[in-house]
Amino acid sequence: MKPPQQSTGLLSYLSAFYFARVHKTSYNLDMVKRRKTLTVTVGSVKIGSSAPIVIQSMTKVPTVDIARCVRQIRRLAGAGCALVRVAVPRRADTAALAAIVPKAGIPLIADVHFSPARAIEAIEAGAAKIRMNPGNIKNRKDILPIIDAAKMHKAAVRIGVNEASIRDLGRQDVPLSKRTAMMLREMKRYVRIFENRGFNQLVLSAKSSDTVRTIEINRSIAVAFDYPIHIGLTHAGLPEEAQIPSAIALGTLLAEGIGDTIRVSLAGNPVLEAKMAKRILQPLGLAKRSTPELIVCPTCARAELDVVKLARRIQKALRDVGKPVRIAVMGCVVNGPGEAADADLAVCTAKKKAYFYRKGRRIAVVPEVEIIPRILQQLQRL
Ligand code: SF4
Repeated sequence: MKPPQQSTGLLSYLSAFYFARVHKTSYNLDMVKRRKTLTVTVGSVKIGSSAPIVIQSMTKVPTVDIARCVRQIRRLAGAGCALVRVAVPRRADTAALAAIVPKAGIPLIADVHFSPARAIEAIEAGAAKIRMNPGNIKNRKDILPIIDAAKMHKAAVRIGVNEASIRDLGRQDVPLSKRTAMMLREMKRYVRIFENRGFNQLVLSAKSSDTVRTIEINRSIAVAFDYPIHIGLTHAGLPEEAQIPSAIALGTLLAEGIGDTIRVSLAGNPVLEAKMAKRILQPLGLAKRSTPELIVCPTCARAELDVVKLARRIQKALRDVGKPVRIAVMGCVVNGPGEAADADLAVCTAKKKAYFYRKGRRIAVVPEVEIIPRILQQLQRL
């Protein structure tokens, strides 16, 4: 089902209402209302509609290299991750995990790959959550002891269905609608095993490298289950290629209220993943900002100075400012003041002067050379 369009009229209202009922969300064009879910406890972190959306990422150094792994986890925590996932494909990795957990400072998730043994070892090593792929650990007899261990150690479980790892889904001739249905069927089968064992500390995810399919499958999961959803686009690619598909897939879902924890998959430095996740959440009002937001006009023939160059200078000057203020840099005083009316501070330039506005009201006019010191001075007052 498609979400309602942004239009007026009774039809649009009814369509929004119907969409919200089906998806267990409220549809409001001004504010994102999260879909209601159960709350899942992952160590000190809560996942679900009663908690802020959790940013997570994954370490990309060998888990057995304990010192490097801990350093990367701490960097990710500093960049905004509340949870970090660590791969534990070998026995030596789960042994290393036991040493990493007390040093990590945040709860860790273990990705246990194909091995039921790794799952139990990781839980015993202190993983607050494990990720299981139904395409990798398939049989009930392997799953039940893992559920029992998770119950005993109060660990949560993410059931992560992955399009590529479900048998037959790799075939190119399987129609798109059937792939989504197959992933959902597999999720239902797996969830039933956990529920029948009396376990509900579940987070669900279904990932594809296809943007549209990622949106579709997550909408289906949101309708079918009350568990929190981990959203992400898998194998998204190199950062410059992957950012837009990730922003489209995750932004669409989040705007519909779907998604309780988010991982942006980018090839390369995982800190970029955390930064990108924040950039997706902040415009939707789903993550708090602690640094200035710089708005820059696209510039046109009316601009009398190099707006981009000025914006870069301002960005550099604001690097250490820890205030969530919105600063607009506009190239003229014709449209600039009006378009920047929402900004805490707007700088509109004309004839080698800068006109300062606060919330749409002019507060100062200074020569171009004084722009940066005056911005910093104004920031003190905000
Ligand atoms: S603010 Fe002025 S210079 Fe910038 S794009 Fe708008 S009209 Fe052009």
